[in-house]
Amino acid sequence: MSNLSDTTILVIEDEPDLREGLQHNLELEGYTIETAADGNEGLRKAREGRASLILLDLMLPVMPGLEVLRTLRDTGHETPVIIISAKGQDRDKVAGLELGADDYLTKPFGLSELTARIRAVLRRTQAGARAGVSNKPSATVMKFPDLVVDWKRFTVTREDSEAQLSRYEAEILRMLIDRRGEVVSRQDLLRRVWGYVHLPATRTVDNHIARLRKKVERDVENPVHVVTVHGLGYRFESDLLEES
Ligand code: CA
Repeated sequence: MSNLSDTTILVIEDEPDLREGLQHNLELEGYTIETAADGNEGLRKAREGRASLILLDLMLPVMPGLEVLRTLRDTGHETPVIIISAKGQDRDKVAGLELGADDYLTKPFGLSELTARIRAVLRRTQAGARAGVSNKPSATVMKFPDLVVDWKRFTVTREDSEAQLSRYEAEILRMLIDRRGEVVSRQDLLRRVWGYVHLPATRTVDNHIARLRKKVERDVENPVHVVTVHGLGYRFESDLLEES
């Protein structure tokens, strides 16, 4: 991999031995490490935006890890997050993935497993960033009769109100729009958008679709753009007026 010291990892972990151990070992691997000992400090450092990846403990003083993650994603911060959680927190791990975490590890874990996960998440997210949200060279702005999507800024504008899309929401919307008029299955969305298969499939996709609909639909109970095709998946409905 290219110069790892350019890659900063933020470790948010309250247990001093584990925090210092992670810092020491990941620095030996060549990464630059920042640390935070509670959720509030972690959120502040995450928002400064230097980290390429965040290792996030869930049981944290001041602000729990899930709250840190939720706040980051709700405010448009899409830095990849790997959750590091204690045994028996399976429900929290699932919640974390649904909130937009990229992967999780259960303590105790070995250094080689951790570095493999870090490399995989960085490869996936950096490849995604290089390629944009779509593989083919394509428009920056797409206009539909009552919707404007800006792929550079990850925004959708409907009735003069602009909403910020998360990375996942943007990738889902992009895939649906690229194949507009066709059904896209949840499995296709999972494979293409998340790139791995150990997620609780349908609920994760459905939760992101629900968040996306709040941004693109006038009435989320009666969606006209991101339409459910029962038993099959989702379909985007609208006529593209203009792209630039
Ligand atoms: Ca902890």
